[in-house]
Amino acid sequence: NNIDMGWNFDNSYLSLPDKLFTKINPTPVSSPSIVLLNFNLAKKLGLKINDLDSFALVASGNLVPTDSSPIAQAYAGHQFGNFTILGDGRAILLGEHIDPSSERWDIQLKGSGRTPYSRGGDGRAALGPMLREYIISEGMNGLNIPTTRSLSVALTGDSVKREKSLSGSILLRVASSHIRVGTFEYASLKLSNHEKKALLDYTIDRHFPECWEDKNPYISFLDKVILRQAKLIAMWQSVGFIHGVMNTDNMSINGETIDYGPCAFMDEYNNKTVFSSIDLYGRYAYGNQPYIAAWNLARFAETIIEFLDNKKETAIEIAQARVSRFSELYSSYYLEIMGRKIGIDKVKPSDEVLIKDILKIMEETKSDFTNTFLDLTFERHSESKIYTHPDFNTWNLRWLDRLKEENSSKKDTISLMKKSNPAVIPRNYFVEEAIKDATENQNYSKIYKLINAISDPYSHDDYKKEFASPPFGKNYKTYCGT
Ligand code: AMP
Ligand code: MG
Ligand code: MG
Repeated sequence: NNIDMGWNFDNSYLSLPDKLFTKINPTPVSSPSIVLLNFNLAKKLGLKINDLDSFALVASGNLVPTDSSPIAQAYAGHQFGNFTILGDGRAILLGEHIDPSSERWDIQLKGSGRTPYSRGGDGRAALGPMLREYIISEGMNGLNIPTTRSLSVALTGDSVKREKSLSGSILLRVASSHIRVGTFEYASLKLSNHEKKALLDYTIDRHFPECWEDKNPYISFLDKVILRQAKLIAMWQSVGFIHGVMNTDNMSINGETIDYGPCAFMDEYNNKTVFSSIDLYGRYAYGNQPYIAAWNLARFAETIIEFLDNKKETAIEIAQARVSRFSELYSSYYLEIMGRKIGIDKVKPSDEVLIKDILKIMEETKSDFTNTFLDLTFERHSESKIYTHPDFNTWNLRWLDRLKEENSSKKDTISLMKKSNPAVIPRNYFVEEAIKDATENQNYSKIYKLINAISDPYSHDDYKKEFASPPFGKNYKTYCGT
C-alpha cells in the first residue's frame, strides 16, 4: 500500500563507505496517529495521502515503505566550540525520495527510537518541540529562506520522560540532504583518504555538480559552500532569526537551515539577543551568527584540506584565503537584502551607514525589528517609537534623499518594501501559545491559523495583524528541544 502512497525511494547514501552510517529500523511505537500534515508539501513530493491511518504507520516508523532502507547517519561536530563524535541519536533516514520533477529529498524520521549514536538519550522526542520545528521550518520556508521542511507530526501513543512525562512524537523531516559540516568532520577523523574522497565526490554530485566544470572542483566546492552560508546567514539576519545552536553538526553543507531546537525570532532589535537557555555566554547571539558561520566554515575547510592542493602549505593558504572571503560575501548579501527593506533596489557601499544608523535608532528606542520596517513602509508614525528618537528626523531626510537617487516612483518603492518586509514572522509568543493549546488541550486550531499566516508572510493582509505584535518580548527563553 505504500507504493500507492507514491513513495519512490532511491538510497544513494548507501553507496558511501559504511562507516558513515548504520542500518537500523525505527523502533515501533504503540499507537501512531497524525496530528499535523503538510498537504502542500505532500503534493510537491508527489505523495497521495488518502488514508491518514496508513500514512501514520509510515510517519511513525511502524511500517517501513518498500524500497526504503533505513539508516542512522554518523557525524561529528563542534558543540559550543568542543569537538564531539555524534550521529543520529534519535533520527532515522528512511531514504531518498525522488519527486515527480526528479528532485531528490531525504525522508527522515526524528524521534524514531534509539540508535548506536544515542549515547545516554532515549531516541525519542516530545510533542512540543516537534510542533515547534514544524511551525518554524514552515515559517522559514514562507520567508523564502532555504530550510529543511516538515511533512508531518505524529503522536506515538507512548510517553517520554523529560522533567515531566510528555507525549511522544515523531517529526517527518524533508531535506535536500542531511550532509552536515559535521559529516565531513567525522569523515576527516574516521575515513581513509580514498573513503573521504567518496563522500566529497558524492556531495559535489548531489549538491554542487557545476563544480566539476572547474579547474579544481574541490576548491570550487569550498567556495560554493561558503557562498551558500553567506547568503543563508544574511537572510537570517534580515528577518531576525536566531538559530540558537550553530554547532557544526547543525550546519548543512547545502546551505539549508537545519535543526530547529532553541531557535527564535528577535522582537526588539538588539545584537546581543539570545533566547537559548543553554547559551550562557551568548556564543550564538543574533549579532554573532555571521562570525560563528565563518568559524564553522574554517572547521569545514580543514576537513578537505588535502584535496585543495598537493602541498600542505599551499592548501592551508588556499583554505584561509577562501574562508576569509566569507565576511565580504556575507556583507554584500546583507547590504543588498537590507537595502531592499528600506526601498533601495540598487545598493551602494555608502548605504551601509544608512542601514546601521536606523538599526541604532531601533536599538536605542527598543523598537521591534520586524515592525519598524513595516512602520517605515506604511508611514505609521503613531505606532513606532523610532519617530521619537532625536536622530530620526535627520535620518529620515538622508533616507528620502537617497530614495530620490533610485529614480523610482513612491508606489514602486512601497511595493519593493512590501515585498522585502514580512507582515508576520513566527513570533515566540504566538508559537508558544499555539503549541500550549495543542499539547495541553489537543486543540490545533491556533497552530493552523498561525501556520496559515506565516506561510505567506509577504502579502500584507489585515488578518495577519493578529500575530504582528508580541505582548512581551524580553526575558523569553527557549529550551533545547528534546
Ligand atoms: P542537537 O543539539 O539537537 O543538534 O543534538 C545533538 C546530538 O544529540 C545529536 O547527535 C542528536 O541525535 C542527539 N540527541 C538529541 N536528543 C536525543 C535523544 N532524546 N536521544 C538520543 N539522542 C539525542
Ligand atoms: Mg543536531
Ligand atoms: Mg536537534
